[in-house]
Amino acid sequence: MKALLVVDVQNDFTPGGALPAEQGHAVISVINALMAQFPLVVASRDWHPQDTVHFERWPVHCVKFSAGAEYDPLLDKEKIDQEFLKGTDPETDSGYSAFEATSEDLDKYLREHDVDELYVVGLTTEYCVKATVLDAVNLGYKTFVVTDAVAAVNMLDAAAALEDMRRHNASLVGSQAVLAQ
Ligand SMILES: [Zn+2]
Repeated sequence: MKALLVVDVQNDFTPGGALPAEQGHAVISVINALMAQFPLVVASRDWHPQDTVHFERWPVHCVKFSAGAEYDPLLDKEKIDQEFLKGTDPETDSGYSAFEATSEDLDKYLREHDVDELYVVGLTTEYCVKATVLDAVNLGYKTFVVTDAVAAVNMLDAAAALEDMRRHNASLVGSQAVLAQ
């Protein structure tokens, strides 16, 4: 069974947000098309407390229940079967990976749904997408990154991040190939 994992498509990571990926809006139509194709769609959200050591490294973003933490309105969020909230611990700079979600255990959820192939899309390529992909590979999922459905905060870092994921045995695929399956 395959599943689509939509990472952090939230207002603060799209243009106009606190920590935006320049192409953050452009990839959402691709993500919407992919969501329609998958039997199971899960999504993560960055969900930070107001005060957290994470904000010593980053501008304030995705504070839980704030507008910046909402899904971008372009995202077809009705297609999300289950969401996972991460980055909730005020004491540590953690929660980059969706597998660190604290609202529910993502790995357990996927195994309960017999998922063995995971397609990862969303924001942002070089931080939370990459951390999620590396965890997915380590946990034994056959892991795919849909390269035209992810966007980086710094576009200059995008290619290196994708190459890093590929070297760690994630497969890079284009959305057309996935949609044609
Ligand atoms: Zn964050």
